Amino acid sequence: MSCCIEEKTAVAAPVTGRRRFVQLAALASGVSLLSVQLPQAHAAGATEALLLSCMDFRLMDEIDRYMHSRGLRDQYDHVVLAGASLGAVTDKYPAWSKTFWEHLDIAIQLHAIKKVIVLDHRDCGAYKVILGEAHAKTPESETAAHAEQLGKLRRMIKEKYPKLGVETLLMSLDGKVQAVETATS
Ligand SMILES: [Zn+2]
Repeated sequence: MSCCIEEKTAVAAPVTGRRRFVQLAALASGVSLLSVQLPQAHAAGATEALLLSCMDFRLMDEIDRYMHSRGLRDQYDHVVLAGASLGAVTDKYPAWSKTFWEHLDIAIQLHAIKKVIVLDHRDCGAYKVILGEAHAKTPESETAAHAEQLGKLRRMIKEKYPKLGVETLLMSLDGKVQAVETATS
């Protein structure tokens, strides 16, 4: 109620009212002044990379730690698709592929990213659902299955955006990451 009385006073007595109004405005703006001083996200601009990873909840901390260890914390865009590379190339879920390419386009337009980091992982449920359990019979066959999908996506990215770098990686459940060599054609 006191606010309404003060407003009425301001209208009735212009000089002191204006001063009071300025004081009130300063008090009110104190809230936004404080919020300006809080930590904020970086201003929009260029950033290093777009990361494509799987959605698997077991590896979220490991992914964050890995990107941090490379000095990329808060320096990358992140697209999450079940199966990572496989999610982006599979015919089984065409909307996922569309989503990936649209996000890559936006990441290039908004943040001028220089590379795509594709991070698959072992014991991936999406790989089992889409390709079947047999691919993971041995660590070697599992690696080969990932190399095939990672390679497919690498070639598609390079075809569309020849200047973009592409990293093809495979994470173990303990968070260790290995580079996966892929065929070039
Ligand atoms: Zn997965």
